[in-house]
Amino acid sequence: MIAITNLRKHYGKKEVLKGISLEFEPGNVYGVVGKNGAGKTTLFNCIAGLDRYGGDISSPYDELKNHLGFLETNPQFMSLITGREYLKLYCIARGIKDEDFDSRNIFALPLGEYATSYSTGMKKKLALMAVLLQKNEVFILDEPFNGVDIQSNIMISAIIDELRRRGKTVIISSHIFSTLSDTCDKIFLMKDGVISKRATKEQYAALEAEMMNDIVGGEVERLML
Ligand code: ADP
Repeated sequence: MIAITNLRKHYGKKEVLKGISLEFEPGNVYGVVGKNGAGKTTLFNCIAGLDRYGGDISSPYDELKNHLGFLETNPQFMSLITGREYLKLYCIARGIKDEDFDSRNIFALPLGEYATSYSTGMKKKLALMAVLLQKNEVFILDEPFNGVDIQSNIMISAIIDELRRRGKTVIISSHIFSTLSDTCDKIFLMKDGVISKRATKEQYAALEAEMMNDIVGGEVERLML
């Protein structure tokens, strides 16, 4: 289990994470939903060990980052590196040799071409493939459905289901509630650096209604259409 206790993060004087406590169990898929700026990416960066923080993040692993695959919202690639070379780099980082990338290329990516020439959706699928091939135990997928076509969305949902079946811990974020409600066992609503709601499946409808009210409220009426 990954246990986060009283996680705090400041950028200058601004407190972005205000004492977050959460637990993530293997074989479960967790959703983190919240408006832009709520602190989702900062939370993920802290779990992935990419940022310094206050509080505690514990896990059963010697070093969590060595068992964790992090799909960033907008994956970045070095210039002059092909898709195949990128996958190879990720595998070498985990000591995995001789992968047959072509037979596992389920998104039909042009692996011989430079990754920087890929479309936004292709870049996301390549980055996802890389963390999957690493056989990580924990996956953080920041907006995995954003910018990819509907077929790939369905494929990514199926991959997440398979990861759950294999006992992996999966944490995904989205600002679109419906993409999470189909996939997740538990959803955390993040607001201004705190977890303001924790919902299990039977509470999703109420959470979604609350979010809608929060976003729309009486605002549309102000347009006087
Ligand atoms: P989300 O992923 O939910 O959209 P972020 O975690 O990206 O939210 O951002 C949370 C808050 O932290 C925002 O107010 C954002 O402006 C601020 N922030 C994020 N990264 C930095 C940074 N490197 N320096 C200063 N402020 C940052």
